[in-house]
Amino acid sequence: MNIDNMSAIEIAEKVRAGKLLAVDVTEHYLKRCQRLNNRLNAIISLSEQAMIEAEKIDNGKKENLALAGVPVLLKDMFCTQNLKTTAASKILKEFVPPYSSTVTEKLQSAGAIVLGKCNQDEFAMGSSNETSFFGPAKNPWNLEYVTGGSSGGSAAAVAARLAPLSIGTDTGGSIRQPASFCGVFGIKPTYGRISRYGIIAFASSFDQAGPLSLRVKDSSLCLEVLCGKDEKDSTSISQPVPRFSNAQFKNNLKVGRIKSFFNNQVNKSILNKANEAMDLLKSNGAQIVDIDIDHLEVAVDTYYLIAMSEASSNLSRYDGVRYGYRADFSRNQPKNLEDFYSRTRSEGFGEEVKRRIALGTYSLSSGYYEAYYLQAAKVRRLIRNSFLRAFENVDVLVSPVTTDTAFRIGEKTENPLEMYYNDSFTTCVNLAGLPAASVPIGFDNKGLPMGLQLIANDFQEEVILSTAQKNRGPLQVL
Ligand code: GLN
Repeated sequence: MNIDNMSAIEIAEKVRAGKLLAVDVTEHYLKRCQRLNNRLNAIISLSEQAMIEAEKIDNGKKENLALAGVPVLLKDMFCTQNLKTTAASKILKEFVPPYSSTVTEKLQSAGAIVLGKCNQDEFAMGSSNETSFFGPAKNPWNLEYVTGGSSGGSAAAVAARLAPLSIGTDTGGSIRQPASFCGVFGIKPTYGRISRYGIIAFASSFDQAGPLSLRVKDSSLCLEVLCGKDEKDSTSISQPVPRFSNAQFKNNLKVGRIKSFFNNQVNKSILNKANEAMDLLKSNGAQIVDIDIDHLEVAVDTYYLIAMSEASSNLSRYDGVRYGYRADFSRNQPKNLEDFYSRTRSEGFGEEVKRRIALGTYSLSSGYYEAYYLQAAKVRRLIRNSFLRAFENVDVLVSPVTTDTAFRIGEKTENPLEMYYNDSFTTCVNLAGLPAASVPIGFDNKGLPMGLQLIANDFQEEVILSTAQKNRGPLQVL
């Protein structure tokens, strides 16, 4: 039995049936992580509890465990009790949470084994994993290239089969963009589907968790486990959770092609493969129409303005008083409380995080709030309205995920704006709160993977999942 080639679904079935031991699967993947991670830097910490958890699964009642014995890697944004959770920041580099996120708990209650925590951009701010305090994760398809971000470690880990399943977060594209750069499937569900409780907050009105996997079906199963109302997160939504893994491809599917995203800025190979993917859908009975969504040209600006504003507020809690990094005051006592905070925060946060806190504080400050934050909030609503109008006529929207494939490590670090414009096709979806995924569609002439973005109406993840399965990328074993 070759464990590397097994889907999460197969592993769970075999473990439930007693044909495979969770300890064997866990040991296999732990070893693989240890062996490959020094080259990939996709993992920040491995769990010392994993084998104990696996033993418990083997010795317990497992008939009803959807993810019995399935090894899972979590982005380091998810609090894990007794296991370091760093957000890839110096300010939390030794932080061991006293409790677990709802996502962590749900996975474990379903029998999944948390193997460890993945590398990412610091506080999920970035598009290349290069803002991580622990250094960039490497793209498994070419180690000189970025994984994308911010869930870069989660995407690279799944691509390199360090686990069949990983969990990321997506605030402006952070599941979809790295999924496309690493050639795996990744889906951000509708805002509110999955509880944010115990996920380190970046921009709370956008942050959503979601799975990444080689196979669409594994993500479907994972969503069944993760979705649902949680009393601990008031923005989580009580909406029935469908059997995502049973989703059937829709007859006469109406597909809208977001016209302005198929432009000459986009890498030709991506356009070609995206068109091939649409032909495939057509040959399966889908109808393709061109769609205009209004105000997309200001989506990135609107997103960054709101995200930075929320981040400046969310990150004010890191002051070095109760937990996290504190500046070394042994030789040079703080002059006053402000000096204590400012030295701790200057040393504890990286450049990109500080830039965002400064800009976000500015846009929320009195006198500027109306001109910046409030204006952005209005544009956000207009963009959502335009998407909702489109969904009166189509079931699913498609676009490239990015204008280009992965870039070289270091290539864009000097130019934050260029980095932000990486998110041209993904941030609009978070502004609208809609579910969206990246589906692998092939490789460019450098051998780097490419993704197609599928976007659906609120709570229509099933349409995305069933459509993605028709789209067999070369890596997909569906
Ligand atoms: N790249 C975007 C940013 O830097 C999105 C990040 C995310 O989705 N967490 O904000």
